[in-house]
Amino acid sequence: MFMIFIFSLVVICYYICMEFVKPVTPAAPLTGSCPDCAERVESGWLVCPHCRSMLRASCKSCDKIYDLWLQYCPWCGQPKKDVSA
Ligand SMILES: [Zn+2]
Ligand SMILES: [Zn+2]
Repeated sequence: MFMIFIFSLVVICYYICMEFVKPVTPAAPLTGSCPDCAERVESGWLVCPHCRSMLRASCKSCDKIYDLWLQYCPWCGQPKKDVSA
């Protein structure tokens, strides 16, 4: 009985160790939803592959290009409504 207990302890330790040595999975790309069709879109896409609406525009405040599905300009914090299409 004691041996079974030790054995299960070793197995549990083994799995915990395996969890720690797992290779780090690469971070998923930043995604959002298309402002027109709400389909999933990825950061950096110029147009939505589902409805072909523009996904990127330049910020009126700082002139930098950013994804339209973001609520605010990530560079200066300007709200989306001030973006020129
Ligand atoms: Zn779309
Ligand atoms: Zn900006």
